[in-house]
Amino acid sequence: MKKFILLLAVCAAGAAQAQKLPDPRPFAKTITADDLKKQLFIVASADFEGRETATEGQRKAAAYIENYFRTLGLKPGNGDNYQLFYPVFQDSLEQASLSVNDQPFTFNKDFFVPVALDYSAELGSSEVVFAGYGISDSTRNDYKDLNVRGKIVLVLGGQPAGTAPAPGRRGFIAKQEAAQKNGAAALLILQPNIPRNVRDVKGNMSLTEYPRTIYPNSYYITEPVARAIVGDDLTALQNGSAQPKTYTVNLHLGLQKSTLHLQSSDVLGFLEGTDLKDQIVVLSAHYDHLGKRGNDIYYGADDDGSGTVSILQLAAAFAKAKAAGKGPRRSILFLANSGEEKGLFGSQYYSEHPTYPLDKTTVDLNIDMIGRIDPNRKIGDSTNYVYVVGSDKLSTDLKPISEGNNKKYSKLELDYKFDDPNDRERIYYRSDHYNFARKGVPIIFYFDGIHADYHQPTDTPDKINYDIMEKRAHLVFFTAWEMANRNDMLKRDIALPVGSR
Ligand SMILES: [Zn+2]
Repeated sequence: MKKFILLLAVCAAGAAQAQKLPDPRPFAKTITADDLKKQLFIVASADFEGRETATEGQRKAAAYIENYFRTLGLKPGNGDNYQLFYPVFQDSLEQASLSVNDQPFTFNKDFFVPVALDYSAELGSSEVVFAGYGISDSTRNDYKDLNVRGKIVLVLGGQPAGTAPAPGRRGFIAKQEAAQKNGAAALLILQPNIPRNVRDVKGNMSLTEYPRTIYPNSYYITEPVARAIVGDDLTALQNGSAQPKTYTVNLHLGLQKSTLHLQSSDVLGFLEGTDLKDQIVVLSAHYDHLGKRGNDIYYGADDDGSGTVSILQLAAAFAKAKAAGKGPRRSILFLANSGEEKGLFGSQYYSEHPTYPLDKTTVDLNIDMIGRIDPNRKIGDSTNYVYVVGSDKLSTDLKPISEGNNKKYSKLELDYKFDDPNDRERIYYRSDHYNFARKGVPIIFYFDGIHADYHQPTDTPDKINYDIMEKRAHLVFFTAWEMANRNDMLKRDIALPVGSR
């Protein structure tokens, strides 16, 4: 009964609020497949080198976007600056050494280190403890009855044959955690194929200079190193019959790394509103991608060149509306993020250093990949759909506005597949809108699905379906138009779903 009354009250409020908005269609029409295509062939060109965060390609793309905002007459969105700079840290390995009884082994051949997870240290010990697979979870405890406190531990890589890991952390990180929990000083992991990859002498980029957790330094080792430690026991180790044992050898581990201090930026264009100009609609997309690997350029045409040029064309359309005296009541921030591919850095930085108050930010409409067709979507019309994510969260206003505009103008199939909190892909947590949602700002995320060219050098602008991209961009425009012009900000009446990245 209670619920029913509440529902009636909501309906009544909704009806009272219905208002006549200026017709968005003349301005939506100015966002065309042709213009999107022309601009995407620039943004996803070899010139921008795959737009990797904190590289020259990213800086070129940022300059292009800034210049485009300026040409449209948008104001800088960060004081006098169109760009909001933020620091990026990246570990770089200087040297790594390993010796057993004074016999030195060769880095990148006999052993390897995960540079981002290890720290600079020299460690020596006259004992190495073999601890099986080094697994300690609900299925087994290889550290049972072992005292490894302050010692160097040797474990086997992977999982015992015929067993499955417990849910939760698994693989390398689970072994590091178990070693840490048991107080080990360092961890040697015997792997038949160590991940020798020269690129990995640089660690992942990070928004913070120091890691949240320090684990025991870990070294991947090969058979020759293991044989020098355990001698003839190696065969028993490898066939799984070896028992925990302490070996007396002089082991020396050295590691020296440095931290590179880099910089990246978000690009912010601001279109000032009229009577509600202190309230903000954010339209976002990330302009960074994966850069170059060797001679391969990762063009990132769909991911997320498609979103980038969409917000540029949305900005152009709103600027035309303003010039025609039909400018939005709320201000619109066009936010081109970088660092997304590294871990949503740019949006995280913005959400922690917002240039406009987040409690006055009514919505973030985020576009990440809207130019392709999901080959795995077997239902409906593949040329007339978009995945809409998050519209059932944070605000009960969101979905009716999104659906209302679609019904009235766009007539796309709105696919809510990724709203399922149990969806394996966890799409809700995987693009920049999440950093707004985390802070309570209602969001909608527009997405086309995963395809074979996703995160491949083959994600090129010639493969984009510009007609469907235009339709999807129009839907975002119509939805943004209502949110920028309606009387009230979106109410925030639903809690953020439980769960995190
Ligand atoms: Zn993306």
